[in-house]
Amino acid sequence: MRSRRKFLQSLSIPMMAAPFAATASQELENFKLANTPVEESKTADGPILRVALMGLGGYCDRVAKAIQACPRVKITGLISGTPTKLAAWGAKYQVPESSRYSYETVDQIKANQEIDAVYITTPNALHKDNVIQIARAGKHVIVEKPMALNAKEGKEMVDYCKKAGVQLVVGYRMHLEPKTLEVVRKRREGEFGQILFFQGLSGFVIGDPKQWRLNKALAGGGSMMDIGIYSVNGARYMIGEEPIWVTAQETKTDFNKFKEGVDETIQFQMGFPSGAIASCLSTYALNNLDRFFLDGTKGFAELKPATGYGPIMARTHQGEIEFPHVNHQTVQMDEMAKFILDGKQPIIPMNGEEGLQDLRIVDAIYKAVKTGKKVTI
Ligand code: NAD
Repeated sequence: MRSRRKFLQSLSIPMMAAPFAATASQELENFKLANTPVEESKTADGPILRVALMGLGGYCDRVAKAIQACPRVKITGLISGTPTKLAAWGAKYQVPESSRYSYETVDQIKANQEIDAVYITTPNALHKDNVIQIARAGKHVIVEKPMALNAKEGKEMVDYCKKAGVQLVVGYRMHLEPKTLEVVRKRREGEFGQILFFQGLSGFVIGDPKQWRLNKALAGGGSMMDIGIYSVNGARYMIGEEPIWVTAQETKTDFNKFKEGVDETIQFQMGFPSGAIASCLSTYALNNLDRFFLDGTKGFAELKPATGYGPIMARTHQGEIEFPHVNHQTVQMDEMAKFILDGKQPIIPMNGEEGLQDLRIVDAIYKAVKTGKKVTI
């Protein structure tokens, strides 16, 4: 069996070998390169990514715990508007007071030599300003999905980070999940033949009606921004193409919980240049919805669950894909150290452009809902 280190090394590829818009044959070469076993190093894998966490909420807690198992990542800073949280997290993760910031003092992070990057896990509406503020301070940025509220914001963030000379990485943890990558490898090698169809089901029943996810100003929408985006993104990496049109329909059963601009359920369809079609469901009103299905002329793949914290289950027409479960956030953070510090790139992109492309599609989906028309991308 391959060692954990060799396995993790295979999840990313040298930067020069993987331009963002790779052709199919380039993609395949890159994949082979990425899966070439690498000699286990006797010394440390490389430098440590020293990361500050911004927005100390539920997901950040998961990431912070996962980082404890990362050989190449260390928490060296904290940013929060709540002093008690800064004190408690500071004590728990041994972050000195001098590296704890409020949103008012965060600009001072520029002078902190112990911080390489900031991981932003605030509500969606804050991402744009947070990213720009951190980039201005000269630190690399990791931002959670959705990277912004719309493509206009996303583009601003990409441009700003480019100008500031810092990297912008989006927390697309599924891009590093082993069974997902195996399905993508099989598709790239033609094992499913010509891809004709993808189905993405993404949903759960949302609880507390007062939470920010149900507040348009903070979430930017409803289920589509939060969970439907997994089907948008998944359709792209499963099919391996960019959609050229979308159609979409919204249904709402609870007008109190899901106010104007907060979508409860959206069904959407996407068309791809090869003729492949995707049919997807995004909802905050149904449980048991976490499934990707890919169908081609020679075979199929199913991921179910497809995007939860795992274990992810995968099968194809050839049988089960059996890889050991890995903690998604631990793998993600260790790999991000390689992207940011070693110049490697993931097999499926995780940069700002990737996040921006999802937002272009989400914008088109909302437009299609509003107009009832097919929207060209
Ligand atoms: P959360 O509510 O648990 O945490 C949000 C944090 O932001 C809190 O600590 C809150 O205090 C802070 N905050 C700062 N300014 C705020 C404001 N004006 N209003 C409200 N809160 C404010 O939310 P979460 O579940 O941790 O989600 C945070 C981000 O992470 C979202 O963008 C979400 O989409 C993303 N997320 C990603 C995954 C994943 O698997 N990749 C999972 C969950 C959440």
